[in-house]
Amino acid sequence: MYCKVITASRSSGIGNGLTYEAQGDETVGTAVRVPLRKTLVEGIVVALQEQREQEEYDLRKIQETMDQSPLLSEAQIRTAQWMSEYYLTTLRQSLGVWLPPPPWSRVLPKDIIGYSLVERHAEMLRGKKQIEIVEYLMGKDWVSQEELRMVAGATQDMLRTLKKKGVVKEEKRKEETARPSKVSPILELPKLSPAQEAAHEFIIRDPKPALLFGVTASGKTEIYAQLIADTINQGKQAILLVPEILLTEHSISRFERLLKREAISIVHSKLTEKERRDEWKRIRSGAVSLVIGSRSALFSPLQKLGLILIDEEHEWTYKNEQMPRYHARETAEALARFSGARLLLGSATPSLESWSRAKSGTYNLVRLPTRFEDRPLPTVKIVDLVDTKFGKLYPFSPLLIESIHQCLARREQAVLFLNRRGMASSLLCLKCRRRVICAESQLPFTVHHTSHGRPYLLDHSTGLIAEVPPKCPHCESTELRPVGAGTQKIEFLLQSLFPKARIIRADRDTMQDPEEMRGILRRMRDHQADILLGTQAVVKGLDLPQVTLAAVLIADLGLSLPHFRAGERVFQLLTQLTGRSGRSKPGEVIIQTFRPDAPEVIAASKHETEKFLNDELKLRIYGEYPPATHMIRFILRGSDAEKHARRLFMDVQKAIAVEKCEVKAYVAPTFFGGSKEWHVLLRGTSPRTLLRHLDLSDVFIDIDPTETL
Ligand code: ADP
Ligand code: ZN
Repeated sequence: MYCKVITASRSSGIGNGLTYEAQGDETVGTAVRVPLRKTLVEGIVVALQEQREQEEYDLRKIQETMDQSPLLSEAQIRTAQWMSEYYLTTLRQSLGVWLPPPPWSRVLPKDIIGYSLVERHAEMLRGKKQIEIVEYLMGKDWVSQEELRMVAGATQDMLRTLKKKGVVKEEKRKEETARPSKVSPILELPKLSPAQEAAHEFIIRDPKPALLFGVTASGKTEIYAQLIADTINQGKQAILLVPEILLTEHSISRFERLLKREAISIVHSKLTEKERRDEWKRIRSGAVSLVIGSRSALFSPLQKLGLILIDEEHEWTYKNEQMPRYHARETAEALARFSGARLLLGSATPSLESWSRAKSGTYNLVRLPTRFEDRPLPTVKIVDLVDTKFGKLYPFSPLLIESIHQCLARREQAVLFLNRRGMASSLLCLKCRRRVICAESQLPFTVHHTSHGRPYLLDHSTGLIAEVPPKCPHCESTELRPVGAGTQKIEFLLQSLFPKARIIRADRDTMQDPEEMRGILRRMRDHQADILLGTQAVVKGLDLPQVTLAAVLIADLGLSLPHFRAGERVFQLLTQLTGRSGRSKPGEVIIQTFRPDAPEVIAASKHETEKFLNDELKLRIYGEYPPATHMIRFILRGSDAEKHARRLFMDVQKAIAVEKCEVKAYVAPTFFGGSKEWHVLLRGTSPRTLLRHLDLSDVFIDIDPTETL
């Protein structure tokens, strides 16, 4: 028997594993020590083989199995294999997300010393202490030395004496078997409404992945809770993925009513490496029934996975933008398939990807069209930012000011969204409604002022500076206006408009850690504040019952138009906004926008999600964009990135001619963290067929990119 082993050593060329002769007790997922050149290294068995693949090299033998039970389950290893095939990475790269950084011996159970009773001869025992120890051991299979010390006051000397006399026997056991984990029972079952109950029935009737399309405040969380309870009652475990921002105390406390805290593991990006390793170990030991976390929580080492839930499945944070550039949704689908687990995606504004799968029957489409207790959706008003006379109060329209006054007079709360922090603004043409863009980066310039007060344009991504143009570069209109203002400036203005209101500002500048977010939410819930002003990344997803006014000050900011996903993003943002208002009493929403006639704005204002999704899907099919087609992006970095990109682009065009396939290709520079990189983008029904014609060494490959040219 032979084993394919991925070693922890990072040497190149062996990223897809080496073959070793097996010892006999290995299974897929076992951690082993293997010889590599002149040293011993850690590795993980990824496949068992009857026969060797190649005969030419000297076969070496696995030195040692580090732990009998596998580090990862077969389903998890198969998912890693799927990832490396789908995302074109080495198996080591894709396994990297599943395992803590080596050495893996650190996460394996330690040997623990313990004792069991051999014989009880009363005459052999001296003193009360010895009798106490023996009595504590009676009727027990094995007790750790630590426990004997704590409970029966046993010192090392006493135990050594008892061992010498033959009263007790010393035996090492692995940590896990030493402390068998008890499965924590469900504390309190959710009480589903009839509509929620029907949705739940519909989900469990069919094992295939389901999309729970439920309006904001329909109570999707209650359905998640019910499914988690079902899973645990079947002796299995669950993962709940949430966008990082929703990892708040409030949403966690919902699940603490379902399960004891120690049966839940919270995994997020703020954990230190040590905390992460400890959680990993705890999850693998079987003590955890529910993992809640951001996208990487999908890789938790649960051995009996029965359920994967992805909340707000449309969120962009589910895409990893580093190697391996996986999407949590696609990867969850593979993991669910290999482990026989149920997969449920939840959203009020499904991604077009999931929507098209639901329409084609790949996913089971489960609707939850009304809010909990039939609370009405808020009324939505649209303010045209071009037509409105603001005076010095921009971006506070008279309608918005009046609505805030009324909301405060009713002693209710308001949430104001802004897409941008700081003080920056961009230059907008009031005629064609496009922004002045930096030719180099294709991103909007921001307006700055010299110390003498003279305005100039700066592109933050490239550092390029330009004069303010006299006319619009697109339509030559002279009506150019600096628009946009950061949260800081707006807070100032807001406070002067409503001097008595208690205002909280929440953006990444004011919130460095989750503790602050928790504080803000507590103050809102306890009604110690009247207005919450925040960037959308911070404010979306909140469940604040006192909020009856939600407004977006400038809906168009921060979206790099034109982008084929821009409409989808605006729609999602606006629907999120409508979701914040009127969650327990009737509410109101105000959308201030430069594009009041845009279909996504109108659809969001009328709560016509399904119509928007169907129309948008038609546009994607017509325009040959995902999900109607597939995209692959090649990223090239370094000093000769441009030459490299242009050469690759030529090779792509040759490959298209050879394969005679319907693929469009583009090449362009872009800016990433201040440095220039080049991208080659493929878009078509089967761009993968081109790959075998291309030399992709030193190229970063991004399958299904969400950010594109
Ligand atoms: P969604 O995630 O669909 O936006 P939530 O799950 O946050 O909605 O539910 C909205 C509000 O309604 C929450 O405050 C929640 O506690 C309440 N709610 C929903 N369903 C129930 C239920 N079955 N029993 C009690 N409260 C519920
Ligand atoms: Zn113009």
